[in-house]
Amino acid sequence: MRIDLHTHSLISDGTDTPAEVVAQAREAGLDVIALCDHDTFDGLDEALTAGREQGVVVVPGVELSCEKNGVSIHLLGYGCRTDDPSLYASMVKVRDSRHQRIPRMAAKLTALGLTITAAEIEAQAQGSSVGRPHVADALVAKGYVADRREAFDRYIYDGGPGYEARYEIPLEQGIEQIHGAGGVAIIAHPWGRASRDVLPLEYLEHLVIDCGLDGIEVNHTDHDESVRAELGAWADQHALICTGSSDFHGAGKPENPLGINLTDPEMYARLLDLMEARSQ
Ligand code: AMP
Ligand code: FE
Ligand code: FE
Ligand code: ZN
Repeated sequence: MRIDLHTHSLISDGTDTPAEVVAQAREAGLDVIALCDHDTFDGLDEALTAGREQGVVVVPGVELSCEKNGVSIHLLGYGCRTDDPSLYASMVKVRDSRHQRIPRMAAKLTALGLTITAAEIEAQAQGSSVGRPHVADALVAKGYVADRREAFDRYIYDGGPGYEARYEIPLEQGIEQIHGAGGVAIIAHPWGRASRDVLPLEYLEHLVIDCGLDGIEVNHTDHDESVRAELGAWADQHALICTGSSDFHGAGKPENPLGINLTDPEMYARLLDLMEARSQ
C-alpha cells in the first residue's frame, strides 16, 4: 500500500484543485493521500468526493500554522471535526492575519523596487488561505523572479527584506485544539528549516508526555537520512506514530512529487485507529 499523508491543493498554496491532486495521486499509484491545506478545511469535501469516485482513500487533514518562541512550526491535524468552535476560531484568526500582512509585504517589495500591489498578490490566491507562495507567484507574473524558489531565496525567506510576520497559534494550544476537535496531532517536518532549533528532543518529549502529541512526520524531503534515523529511533522509543509524505505543492515545488516519501502501512493503521477512537 502506498500512502502519502501530507499534500496541498490551491485551496492553500498548492497549484492543483483538490480533485486534480486526487487524480494525480491515482496516476502516481498512491492508494491513500491526506489533504492538509494550510489553515483551512475548505478543500476537503471536494477531495473526499473525488477520492470516492477515483478509488483513492482521502484522509481529511489540515496543516496548522503554529509557533514556538516565534519560530514557525507546522502541525498536522488528521480527522478533526471541522465545526469545532475553538479550532475554527484559531484558523480564522490565522487566515485573517494571512490577508492582513499582504499589503505590508507589497509595500516592502515596492520599496525594494519590485512594484507590486496587494490586489496583484491576492489575485494569485484562488483559494482561501493566501501565503508567501502567492506573493512569489505575483513576483514571477511581473517578471521580477524566475520561480517561487528565487522569490523565497532573494526576498521573502523568514526575516527576508520582503518578509512580514503573521499570527501563528502557540504550538501547545494547537495540539490541544486539534485534540479538542477529535483529531490526531502530528508535527510536520519537525527538523526541517528553523524549527529544529526550537524542537530539541527534550522539548518534543514534553509535548508527548504533557500535551499528548500523537506523532511526528519523519520521512520528509526537508529531513536528510541521518535526521530520519535519529527522529525515527526517538519516535519508536515513545511509541509515536511516524509518518511520511511528499508535502506536495504541485508545480509550486516540482522537487516534491507525489509519493516521493511514504508512510508505513502499520503507522497508517494506527493513525486510522486513533482517528476512529477520537471520533466516538
Ligand atoms: P507562509 O505560510 O505564507 O508564511 O509561507 C510558508 C509556505 O511557503 C510554506 O508552507 C511552503 O509551502 C512555502 N515555502 C517556504 N519556504 C519556501 C522556499 N524556500 N521555496 C518555496 N516555497 C517555500
Ligand atoms: Fe505550503
Ligand atoms: Fe509545512
Ligand atoms: Zn505542507
